[in-house]
Amino acid sequence: MANDLHTEGYSNPLANPGAANTAIAAVLGQDAQVAKPEISLPVGGAFRLPGGYVLAGEYAGVRYDAEVRELTGADEEAITKARNSGIGRFIATLLQCGTVSVGSESADPTVLSNLLLGDRDMLLLEIRRATYGDEVVWERFSCPFCGEEFRLSVTLDEIPVRRLDDPSQRVFEVPLRKNRKAFVRLPVGSDQEAILAVAERTTDSEQNTLLLSRCLISIVEADGSETAVTGNAEFARALGIVDRQTILDAIEKNQPGPQYNEVKFLHESCGKEVPLFISAGDLFQGL
Ligand SMILES: [Zn+2]
Repeated sequence: MANDLHTEGYSNPLANPGAANTAIAAVLGQDAQVAKPEISLPVGGAFRLPGGYVLAGEYAGVRYDAEVRELTGADEEAITKARNSGIGRFIATLLQCGTVSVGSESADPTVLSNLLLGDRDMLLLEIRRATYGDEVVWERFSCPFCGEEFRLSVTLDEIPVRRLDDPSQRVFEVPLRKNRKAFVRLPVGSDQEAILAVAERTTDSEQNTLLLSRCLISIVEADGSETAVTGNAEFARALGIVDRQTILDAIEKNQPGPQYNEVKFLHESCGKEVPLFISAGDLFQGL
């Protein structure tokens, strides 16, 4: 007898195709949810670059969107292999593996080399977040003031991020001694790569000369005359020590991005505020 059938909640697909489709979709949706944990696609995320990627040509402008993903076992193999060729190859490979896109462009080596150092640091931070999570742990941190050893944990959000006031402004003016001034541009990935490539064979001062020779654009003398000095290592060497330091400090101060040297915490045992210097190695302790 028809009245004995339990038809409550049943939709005859012929009489009510819309309701039946909805019910089928709901079941399929449930199945998809159950199956989800088995499909372990790398996680990642979109975020905003603190400096921005400058596009030229038809679509000229500054783009801020970037996307990274979790590093996989294949990436780990490539990155640890690159590490044998020095820190420069290590960072370049890490960025290449973990970056999906920058300013709607796929992240090829040229795009990554043209990014400001601060934006590259931001990519590293987000790749770290996607791969290992938010918490950076030092199992045995030793307080520089009282010497006590303890487990220290810092979340990535505790690292301050500096953003550019005017992202299109990549060149800035630095006042020097004797009423001179320098025009300097912010360093990008290719500058970092050039310096890291020779890092093991050079002193810090020689690396500073290389950075200055690449990023110094011109010098304006006290009488107003201006000389182009890009690529001139001899000029960078001939600069006074104080002027060199002034320019390096200005580059540091103007660079956007995560400020890995500005993390501090209060060590309650001794009451001292402890500065923490976080390196790429700390972010990727597993690699
Ligand atoms: Zn302490």
